[in-house]
Amino acid sequence: MSQTVTDKHYEGGCLCGAVRFRGTGTPEFVSHCQCTTCRKTSGTGHSTDAGFKTAHLAITGDLSRFAMATDSGNTIEICFCPDCGSKVMTTNAAYPDVAAINLALFDTPGALTPTIVFFTRSAVPWDLIGGDVERYETQP
Ligand SMILES: [Zn+2]
Ligand SMILES: [Zn+2]
Repeated sequence: MSQTVTDKHYEGGCLCGAVRFRGTGTPEFVSHCQCTTCRKTSGTGHSTDAGFKTAHLAITGDLSRFAMATDSGNTIEICFCPDCGSKVMTTNAAYPDVAAINLALFDTPGALTPTIVFFTRSAVPWDLIGGDVERYETQP
């Protein structure tokens, strides 16, 4: 993998195209999350996200924002396209300099490979994630 090249970038957008984003450099993480929130917001068993430093992220278009408290007491904000409803980004008040972008929305989603699975304790039996990934019962 050549994800260490600093001017490497990853672009994508929502279903309707009103929201576009571009992350530059190596993502902080690329992960699956099987928590209840991600199940409900993804519409399937887990979300898959690439986390970028907000300083390395450019987003165009308006976002609808839904804030909620997590089990750990942090506030997360889930950001959607107001037109088509695609979930674009999730932020966590505990990590204000990082934003998790929905990997499914990237123009070339296969260009990044998830290496971590969070919240396996919440996984539904049919949501099987294979491959060589680190697995955590919650989020360490
Ligand atoms: Zn849209
Ligand atoms: Zn989650």
